[in-house]
Amino acid sequence: MEIGAAVREVRAARVLGWRAWTVTESRDGLRLGSVIYVGLWLPGRAAIAACRRDENPFADAVALHHVPGADCGCGFHAARDPVDALSYLRGRDEPGTVCRVLGEVVLSGQVVETEAGWRATAAYPARLYVDDPAIAEALATYGVPVLSARASRPPFGHARQRGGLPRSAG
Ligand SMILES: [Zn+2]
Repeated sequence: MEIGAAVREVRAARVLGWRAWTVTESRDGLRLGSVIYVGLWLPGRAAIAACRRDENPFADAVALHHVPGADCGCGFHAARDPVDALSYLRGRDEPGTVCRVLGEVVLSGQVVETEAGWRATAAYPARLYVDDPAIAEALATYGVPVLSARASRPPFGHARQRGGLPRSAG
């Protein structure tokens, strides 16, 4: 997710942000997955981030670091504004991906604040917004509230207006 450059490290390292997930078929049923990298989020267990920078032949080398590195892009990304996560609801998906969903995520461990969000070592969904009842039921396995996106007003209401209308101040 494009959340900008690192600003500072957060001390009280438990932060609530927004992100998108893929919903992917697995052996055990539908599971949340990361949008950018292959990897499933398991129910009842925080997902732990790894630095994948050395897998990218186009990335500049960075000294060995803990995840999330201040000068790297690693760690689980979350946006402060849900609008920044909404654009990740569309994209080219792997086979087995059923759809993408938006939700709130709890970041923990080491957390780096960025211009528009955070990057962190560990993450777990806090709230998921899903309209399809069958998918909502399957995702109940994560033990967090699964709410209808249609019935929830913000952020979805003003997110749909983005692009055409200027965002009102305040
Ligand atoms: Zn890194």
